[in-house]
Order: sequence, then structure tokens, then C-alpha cells
Amino acid sequence: MKRVFSAMRPTGRLHLGHYFGALDNWIKLQKDYECFYGIADWHALTTNFEAPDDIRENTRQLLLDWLSTGVNTEKSVLFVQSKNLAHAELYLLLGMITPVAWLERTPTYKEMQAELSHKDLANYGFLGYPVLMTSDIIIYNAAYVPVGIDQVPHVELSREIVRRFHTLYNKEVFVEPQALLTKQAKLPGLDGRKMSKSYDNSVMLSDIPEVVEKKLKTMVTDTNRKKRSDPGDPECCPVYPYHDIFSTEDEKAEVTAGCKNAGIGCLDCKKILINHVLAFLAPIREKRTRLEREITDADEYLADSQKKAGEEAEKTVAAVREAIKI
Ligand code: SF4
Repeated sequence: MKRVFSAMRPTGRLHLGHYFGALDNWIKLQKDYECFYGIADWHALTTNFEAPDDIRENTRQLLLDWLSTGVNTEKSVLFVQSKNLAHAELYLLLGMITPVAWLERTPTYKEMQAELSHKDLANYGFLGYPVLMTSDIIIYNAAYVPVGIDQVPHVELSREIVRRFHTLYNKEVFVEPQALLTKQAKLPGLDGRKMSKSYDNSVMLSDIPEVVEKKLKTMVTDTNRKKRSDPGDPECCPVYPYHDIFSTEDEKAEVTAGCKNAGIGCLDCKKILINHVLAFLAPIREKRTRLEREITDADEYLADSQKKAGEEAEKTVAAVREAIKI
């Protein structure tokens, strides 16, 4: 089986946007690929170096979300990045050969600086995070990295770094990773913006039913539909993408027609959705509650999987040392 690598930063509990934007795909990939999924806690430090206190607990929470949705150690290798120091060695060595201009032109570098303008990101770690990301991927010789279209430049950069290494040291050590383009379902947040924890507009996978119901009931709708008697347009309504994911074809047709001719109220429309979302989240939350009691230490739980990741990474770094003759 070809190998896949992907990772998430431990920034807290996951929401529906994470699930349909990435996790859903990760779960499916486990069937056809050998998957290495990492908890990128060093990456969390690149933008959050001043407040690292939550990273440990966030690591556990991320693991709980993974396990309760179906990403697990029976099917995949799950590991914590900082527990595998080989990543740091490879990051340092790749840092020696990566031109600064390549990093400065990474599209997300300027975008994230603008998005997180309230944070001081003028640090080397933030500029260099694509090199760390490259070492995360190529240390496992991953053939594929599942990404959305906006992340393709990162995989391209990884490929450039690999090629530069091979040319400089005249030895093929790494697999050149390829982007595995995935269609990501984008769920808007409750306020219509991108679903994000920093906007406080998310439905979390671990939210209790009362909270889910309240959040969805108060979610913004088509702003032109001010009264029940006003016709609306599902195309302009942040609620409709949820129907696209959760509702049946008949329900979608009913909602679309009812919205356009004002035959259905927004609350009735949302009720159909709330039932689906609650049914979807119930088994996840049930499993999560049990696991939360059982797993008090993520490192302990991941020990075997972490060992396998460590051995794979160590093999690659040994070949790197040999190529550099150091
Ligand atoms: S009826 Fe449904 S799709 Fe139409 S505006 Fe209201 S919530 Fe949105």
C-alpha cells in the first residue's frame, strides 16, 4: 500500500468543519493507504509560542476526536510530532539547503500574517514552518499528502526541497510527495463566515445535543429573508450547505422549493437539519465520552504507534546522514 501523511495542529476540540474538511477523508483513506497521521504540536508553537500551556491537553482532545470518529491505531500510525526528535534533526538539515526566498513566497506565509495580525509572527519558526512540514512528510517517505487546492503550494515546496537535496548530495533518499487533491466540503460557521474556533461560530463534534440545537436554531440565514412571508434563496443561505451534506434528496428539494416560495419557515427548515446533525453526532459523542474516561495520557495511549513512527523516521534520517556524510 502506498503511504499517506497528514497532520493537524492541536489547537483544541474539532468542529464539524474539521470533520467534513479533512477527517472524513482521513477515515476513508485508511482503507486504501498506509496512513501516518501526526499531531503537530511543534507547529502549534509557531503561531502560539507565548501560550503553550494548553498544547498538552489539546493533544489529548485532538486524539479523542480522532478516535471517536474512526481514525485509529489499528488502521493507521498515529503519533505526536514532538515525541519524535528525528523530525527536528531533519528540519535542521533541510533548513541548511532551503533558500529563504522559497519560504517568503509561500502564499500562506503572507495570508496568515495578515489573518493573525494581532500576533507577533516575525519569528524564524513561523517563516520556517514549511520546512518543518516538509520534514514531517518526507521523513515517512509518504507518496501522498491529502490536501485542498489552497495547500498544494506547500506540497510543491516539499517536492522542490527534496529535488534540491537529491541534486546537492547526489543521492535519492526521499520519496517525492504528491498532493492527493481532495474535494473538501466547506461548512460555513454559524455567523456565515468560515467555521473557525477563533470566530466562536462552530458546532463542535463534542457539543451536547442541547447546545447543537441552540446553535443551529440561532444560525444566520439568508439575510434578505426578513419575514416568514419573504421568499428566500438557499444559494445565499449559510444553512443550505448543511442540507447538502446531511439531508436526503427529497428533503433538499422540499427545502429549496419551500424557501423560494416562502412555503417553509427558517425554523422548520432548520428542524430537518437539527435532527440529522444530532443523529450524526450521537455515536461520536457516546464513544468520545467513554474514551475520555479511559485515556488520561495521550503519550501512554500512543506508545506503540509512536514507536513505529519513530523507527520509520530514524531509518530515513540515518540515510540522510549518510548522504550528507555527517
Ligand atoms: S428556509 Fe432554510 S434555506 Fe431558506 S433562508 Fe431559511 S434557513 Fe435558509
